[in-house]
Amino acid sequence: MTRRTAGHTAWCGRDQRCNLGEHRSDEIVVDAGHARAVLVRVRTAAGREHAEIRVRVALAPGEIAARRQLVGLLGDVRQAVTRAAVAVRPRPGRAAR
Ligand SMILES: [Zn+2]
Repeated sequence: MTRRTAGHTAWCGRDQRCNLGEHRSDEIVVDAGHARAVLVRVRTAAGREHAEIRVRVALAPGEIAARRQLVGLLGDVRQAVTRAAVAVRPRPGRAAR
C-alpha cells in the first residue's frame, strides 16, 4: 500500500505521523545541558509549512529565581517569535522553499 506514502517532502521523516495528513521532519534537538529545544518542520495537509519548537528549561529551586528565569525566557521567546514572523514574506504561488 503506497497510496499514503507518495508525495513526501525531501525532509519528511516518513513515519506514521504522515497518516494524519501532514508531513513532519525528524526532530532537531538543541541540547544545552539544563535546557533543551526540539524543532520539527511541518507541512500541513493544506500545504502550509511551519516550525514547531518545544523548549524545556530546568528552573531554579527558589520561587523568586524561577520567576526571574521565566520572565527572561518569555522575553527571549517573544523576541525569537517576533523576529521569525518578520522574516515571513508572502509570495504569490508556492516558491520552491
Ligand atoms: Zn511525509
